Amino acid sequence: MNAPVDVINYKNGVLYMEEMPLHPLTSKVGTPFYCYSTAALRNAYLQYSRAFADRQALICFAVKANCNPSLLRLFGQLGAGADVVSIGELRFAMKAGIPANKIVFSGVGKTKTELTEALKAGVLQINVESESELKLLDSIAQSLSLVATVAIRVNPDVDAGTHKKITTGKYNTKFGVACEDALDMFMLAGNLPGVAARGLAVHIGSQLTSLEPFEAAFTKLAELVVELRTMGQTITRLDLGGGLGVKYHNENIPAMSAYAAMVKKITDPLKVQLIFEPGRSLVASGGVLVTEVIHTKQNPERRFAIVDAGMNDFKRTALYDAIHRIVPLVEPKLSNKYSYDVVGPVCESTDTFATDVLLPELKSGDRLALLDAGAYGAVLSSNYNVRLTAPEILVDGAKFAVIRKRDTYDELLAAYRQPNWLGL
Ligand SMILES: *Cc1c(COP(=O)(O)O)cnc(C)c1O
Repeated sequence: MNAPVDVINYKNGVLYMEEMPLHPLTSKVGTPFYCYSTAALRNAYLQYSRAFADRQALICFAVKANCNPSLLRLFGQLGAGADVVSIGELRFAMKAGIPANKIVFSGVGKTKTELTEALKAGVLQINVESESELKLLDSIAQSLSLVATVAIRVNPDVDAGTHKKITTGKYNTKFGVACEDALDMFMLAGNLPGVAARGLAVHIGSQLTSLEPFEAAFTKLAELVVELRTMGQTITRLDLGGGLGVKYHNENIPAMSAYAAMVKKITDPLKVQLIFEPGRSLVASGGVLVTEVIHTKQNPERRFAIVDAGMNDFKRTALYDAIHRIVPLVEPKLSNKYSYDVVGPVCESTDTFATDVLLPELKSGDRLALLDAGAYGAVLSSNYNVRLTAPEILVDGAKFAVIRKRDTYDELLAAYRQPNWLGL
């Protein structure tokens, strides 16, 4: 999936997001900053909701991809629910107006405190990933005189064909329970008055670029539904996990229509409610990271552009070997291109955004945009090297608003304490 071509593109050599030229924003808010397009976000959500409008389906935005409350509010207003993996995310989603009865609580290690708060809040469903968690949830629910609606997350042992660090559906990963253990989980749940197991959930990984792994996992899930029903279990819901991958570079991403047709073919005979938990595909293409060139330099082997965004602002290249397109905010008149390594200021060699990328000749003060940065960008940022996290901006037509301010050194320092024996 990709942003519609007219949302982020050049007009007369100037990079625009919707009706907003990006380069004047650099003097208004300083660099680096994240910038998101309302139209692109809305369009991405509508692709899912329209594809499944003729089915009983709930699209739950995976908050971990981007937890900015303005984005959560936007998706919530469009009808989205949320998929949360911590109580912090649950609070963010509810504060942004997403009702608890549209929120799914996922995650392999939910604590007693978290489960208690989620139950009290009245979340739609808790996806359980172990027998230990099922028993804990039961005891909490009983103590609150509640019954927790549960889906059992299965690990279908299917290779998602994606980066190792975002593969979650193989037995060598910590996620879910094996399909052959699902029946035991349902039987156990049947004896626990605090839980009602009514669904199955699956999430095999992120940035999937083909339909086959999804199809293999969903087929296993459907077979399991039939088997469980034969054994007398009630299954009313299937949670199909994260969404499609996005085109960062040269990936071929299946069309939403093909994904939807595949899902419907497998799930229609089951007559279940569907839950989707897309994160990346809702926000990636609608966001850019804008940065300024601090210095350029050359050594006998390479030409470097050192920019003011670092791996503390954007970690995907360091963490997942991700390749993102990088483009100038203002296209130069001359079209000569040079091969650059675009690197940040952080004291690590992994602080590299692109290797051997063709760009016009750069000089200090030039601004660049790293594209498709809306997912797993700002959320993974840190204050490493005591650097201030980048602000976030939302554009809507010709309007813009700062939706997260840059923090300050005083705010960072204020969190620290000194033991009295060090003196002051
Ligand atoms: C990360 C995650 C998602 C979102 O995956 P995307 O690839 O970003 O769509 C959904 N569900 C669960 C359980 C996750 O861990």
